[in-house]
Amino acid sequence: MTKAIYPGSFDPVTKGHLDIIKRSSKIMDQVTVAVLENPRKIATYDIEERVQMLKIVTEPYPNVEVDYYEGLLIDYAHKNKTNIIIKGLRAMSDFEFEFQMALVNQKLNPSIETLFMMTNNKYSYLSSSIVKEIAGLRGDISSLVPPEVHDIIISKYRS
Ligand code: ADP
Repeated sequence: MTKAIYPGSFDPVTKGHLDIIKRSSKIMDQVTVAVLENPRKIATYDIEERVQMLKIVTEPYPNVEVDYYEGLLIDYAHKNKTNIIIKGLRAMSDFEFEFQMALVNQKLNPSIETLFMMTNNKYSYLSSSIVKEIAGLRGDISSLVPPEVHDIIISKYRS
């Protein structure tokens, strides 16, 4: 059985993330979207909100589950009995960082394989930070985030 982890901050989930989730769920038997709880990074949406939003948008995909983790990704992968990590790539700027992370993870655990999935052309400019920037300025984010979680996302900025 091919089982993969798709890790990230997902602060919040965007249509770009969901595109990677959908595509990887077609080629893997099981995909776990793993939300990183990083105590050194202040997130806009807390871990429960990020997990909840991902659960809502991944509901149509029976082989996708959502979880969260703290600490090293390779330890989480080991706990989940998988050695496949999926990463999305948008631009050269993503590549440099992800290349370094993939090599470090391989060094820490040589059985770990990082698979890179190229962004969908439609979402190559899209990131959680862009979504928050626009939402914060009261702009329209409806083309950037899955409709099911649109209101949850903007609720942070409308109080
Ligand atoms: P970001 O805040 O930049 O969206 P995340 O940590 O939430 O970052 O991203 C999780 C994973 O999803 C990373 O592998 C990232 O490269 C990938 N990703 C994020 N946005 C996109 C996108 N628009 N297209 C493809 N991959 C993406």
